Amino acid sequence: MKTKTLGRTGERIPEVGQGTWDYRGGGEPLRVGVSMGARLIDTAEMYGTEEPVGKAVEGLTDVFIATKVSAHHLHHDDVIRAAEASLRRLKIKTIDLYQVHWPNPSIPIQETMQAMEELVKAGKVQYVWVSNFSVPELKEAQEAFGSGEIVSNQVEYSLLSREIEADILPYCAKEGVTVIAYSPLARGRLVSGRDEGTMFLGKIGEKYGKTPSQVALNWLTCQEAVVVIPKANRVEHVRENVGASGWQLSSNDFDAISRKFV
Ligand code: NAP
Repeated sequence: MKTKTLGRTGERIPEVGQGTWDYRGGGEPLRVGVSMGARLIDTAEMYGTEEPVGKAVEGLTDVFIATKVSAHHLHHDDVIRAAEASLRRLKIKTIDLYQVHWPNPSIPIQETMQAMEELVKAGKVQYVWVSNFSVPELKEAQEAFGSGEIVSNQVEYSLLSREIEADILPYCAKEGVTVIAYSPLARGRLVSGRDEGTMFLGKIGEKYGKTPSQVALNWLTCQEAVVVIPKANRVEHVRENVGASGWQLSSNDFDAISRKFV
């Protein structure tokens, strides 16, 4: 599994992690993924999957757990309470990456980031950053976080959803912010049928001995700032997704795919 640096922290994370929204796979898929290097597991207080994730990774030392505080819990005391509840459900002592799930314009980001700094100082959180933040919101959060390190922005990004290329992706790449691409398989739509797009990915994949999903994920991770967190209930999907790492599309094929899905 190829790794990338998380923001400017020096921490190495896998370029293919595992998402858990609507995860119902039990312990095996997540554990198989971790054993193959997909040790970044993403959850959120609102997914209802922190408990199953905690159970799946219990006893494993080499995991990197990312969770999120909901947008309606961004007042100072709510952030602290939410983090403590997540720690309990996940059965861990430190959240590796704690993300503000969505911005909430009615709560000053300074108040949220103050609580985040306290959680870091108390050793309950290692790294802090955000999800679904626009460039102006990222800038505001950066200012509010003061001495904190810039880490990551978790945003929707797939061949069927490329809006971030207009501003968020170039901004993050320039500022050293990792883009954690969610719904990287467009919730399965990208690879579920025998439509023209999937066939096109399959044709390119034949050259590398790779499947349409692996090509679609590799197209994302070819971009230095990007890591992906596909969700898979099925073990065979986990294995396939891990196989999206460790090789690279040629620049010609990368460009051809970019043009096809524009
Ligand atoms: P996704 O990962 O793009 O797609 C998941 C779907 O694709 C599932 O139906 C899964 O099937 C299928 N799949 C997975 N691997 C496959 C493969 N190799 N071949 C064919 N189908 C495959 O969608 P997502 O769950 O929306 O996004 C991933 C993660 O991003 C979430 O789980 C969550 O952690 C995060 N997320 C974050 C936000 C946010 O606001 N920050 C929003 C949405 C998602 P099976 O489950 O049957 O294996």
